[in-house]
Amino acid sequence: MNWAAQPESGAPDEASVLATAAAYAGAVAPADAAAEAPTVAELLPAPAGDEGAPHQDGSALLQMLGALVPAPVRPLPPGGPAALAERVNREFTPVLPELGLGPASLDALAGFLPEQTVRSAHPRTVAHLHCPPDPVAMAADTLVGVLGPSQDSWDQSAAPSAMEDEVVAAFSTLAFGAAGAGSITTGGTESNHLALLLARDEAVRRGFGVEPAADGLPPTACGRLRILASALGHFSLARAAAQLGLGERAVIPVPVLPDHRLDPRALARIAAEVTARGERIAAVVATAGTTDAGAIDPLAACAKTARAHGAWFHVDAAYGGGLLLSDVRRSMLAGLELADSASVDLHKLGWQTIPAGLLLTRDPTALGPLARRVAYLSDLDDEAEGYPNLLGRSLRTTRRADAVKILAACRHHGRSGYTRMIESCFGQAAYVAAHFEADPRFELALPPALTTVLFRYRARRGDPDRVNAAVRRDLLAAGKAVIGRTRLPEPAAGPGSLRLKLTLLRPQTTSAELDALLDLIAQSAADRDHPGT
Ligand SMILES: *Cc1c(COP(=O)(O)O)cnc(C)c1O
Repeated sequence: MNWAAQPESGAPDEASVLATAAAYAGAVAPADAAAEAPTVAELLPAPAGDEGAPHQDGSALLQMLGALVPAPVRPLPPGGPAALAERVNREFTPVLPELGLGPASLDALAGFLPEQTVRSAHPRTVAHLHCPPDPVAMAADTLVGVLGPSQDSWDQSAAPSAMEDEVVAAFSTLAFGAAGAGSITTGGTESNHLALLLARDEAVRRGFGVEPAADGLPPTACGRLRILASALGHFSLARAAAQLGLGERAVIPVPVLPDHRLDPRALARIAAEVTARGERIAAVVATAGTTDAGAIDPLAACAKTARAHGAWFHVDAAYGGGLLLSDVRRSMLAGLELADSASVDLHKLGWQTIPAGLLLTRDPTALGPLARRVAYLSDLDDEAEGYPNLLGRSLRTTRRADAVKILAACRHHGRSGYTRMIESCFGQAAYVAAHFEADPRFELALPPALTTVLFRYRARRGDPDRVNAAVRRDLLAAGKAVIGRTRLPEPAAGPGSLRLKLTLLRPQTTSAELDALLDLIAQSAADRDHPGT
């Protein structure tokens, strides 16, 4: 079954979708099967105006990758962590031998790693926001690795510097309607850290008349800066608050509605209480796509509360930000354009190789305070003569040119390609959710908001949390599937709060493959469902 909304004419037939499914991402034919198997380039969704027609002219880079990485035969190696660690110790140490092994070092890896690594390109690898990487991104990433540019100064980079400018301009325009600024990051954790740093410094500058980058936090600000985020906000927010000298307790959790979205009335109430206590709200953080349920907080209402309190408004769209790529789903992010900053991870709903994060700011000058004048990287006269440097765009110095792979994949697929890939994943989530609703052995936790599905097996004899947890570990240990687990938030937390999670990020997966996965889970659960579990 093809999940993407296809035009009536020219929809790819089942066989071509299955061929694609067998091999996308990671995911290529072994060299000796090249005659029958599609090349990597053929495995990609067709570009606009060429629906369903495979590419015939695979690029040389993609074919090299194809020869190197066999298609996944299973989601992960069976046997569990201890045995594998022992094998790694036996076969890959000493790490630094006295005499180098030469080519044998790489040959050993090529024979070992594809079999012994969790394969995100397998249809039964569905635990995390861990997408199958796009072969186009892989190829561009390889090119960049070979060339080795670094983005901190123009004289280590050249074209990739200009490409990063273009990528930041394109994505900030998608997010905010006009070009802002941005940083290419390692992911949501770094993006959230950077956003809260900007928010903290702005609050200290405006509220306390101190430039924190130079003088640190004034004593009058200590213990008085607050961050308001959904109780289901990502843990990296609290971590960032700790690193930024605010303390984890500066993050005040705002209750959520039954569908896991932040309750906007609770936010307004808590914000008023915080301000009345004489504390200052440095940031309101909304989540666009919670990690578990994919819930999108009411962005416009959050923006309103942030504005009313003079607070920075950050949207953690690490997961949902990929919807910017979809003509069909983009409107789900309405209100994002009101944000001061947004985190978007393209290594989640964007099929990039890890890492590919974006921190976007609406104000083109927002990253100004990060700029550094360094004699050996960014002296004034060089800049005056037209040599830019991106040093002030990141907290890192030496920095990969991850913009290149983003640019390559975006231009390859276009909005139409991404729209179809995203529709496919939404379709799969709806299919699986409908199955859980119809099958009395399972219980759906809530309707899917994006492409994750939370559910559990209805244990009839054993403790439901223990049965469901054991099912997941059994599938891992057998090398059969990688499914996720989490717990429902308060007030449902406690005994019976454990839920399994399927994260559907592989566009080529067919209904038959999903059926097989669900059967596997049911079978494994039936084996575990007895009073001892
Ligand atoms: C994944 C995720 C993060 C963290 O992003 P990384 O890329 O893993 O650093 C932050 N927020 C949300 C909502 C996420 O889903």
